[in-house]
Amino acid sequence: MKVYTLMLGPMSNCSYIIENQEQAILIDPSWDIPAICKFLDSKSLKPVAVFFTHAHQDHMTDADKLLKKYNLKGYLDERDEAFCSLPYDLLNTYKAPKKFEIAGLNIDVLLTPGHTRGSVCIKIDNIIFTGDTLFVNSVGRTDLPGANPDSLIQSLILLASLPGDTIIYTGHSYGRNEGFKSTVKQELSTNPYLKMAKENPKLLEDML
Ligand SMILES: [Zn+2]
Repeated sequence: MKVYTLMLGPMSNCSYIIENQEQAILIDPSWDIPAICKFLDSKSLKPVAVFFTHAHQDHMTDADKLLKKYNLKGYLDERDEAFCSLPYDLLNTYKAPKKFEIAGLNIDVLLTPGHTRGSVCIKIDNIIFTGDTLFVNSVGRTDLPGANPDSLIQSLILLASLPGDTIIYTGHSYGRNEGFKSTVKQELSTNPYLKMAKENPKLLEDML
């Protein structure tokens, strides 16, 4: 399995392409669909599934074009469907937590609400794609419609309990250098939100 990151659009959104057995699973393909298709072609990869970490527009801008081109439907947790801008017939809604087996990979979708009701983190082996739930040194906003700080605290407690060597890929690049990639161990030492979720989650109530 290989993971490729394409940082696209004006908000440093990360689109992920996961390669396995000459197939590709895409997470949050957005903004520059031609660039994503060009990348897939350059690696001779056939996209077989698309997952959205949540339904905010910046994670699915123009994704309908990609879904139509490859005749796919995007997996989205049903709790986020109400404010999703993609046509319903391009969606495969489901209820997380849920496990999928695609392209020879076991995909474990964890329900991590807080940033939105239907936010999920997508775990494959020791890699987790956290969308806007967890960033390098930060967490997702909880002031938008559908957000809930208490839910985010519970989601952070869940993420803080993962093995330290779990590799994190976030929904935006907000950190320095490779600002979209970290580990649970690293974030537990430098991300005040994750650290608090592990050590004293009650304190997070004043921070979110
Ligand atoms: Zn978002």
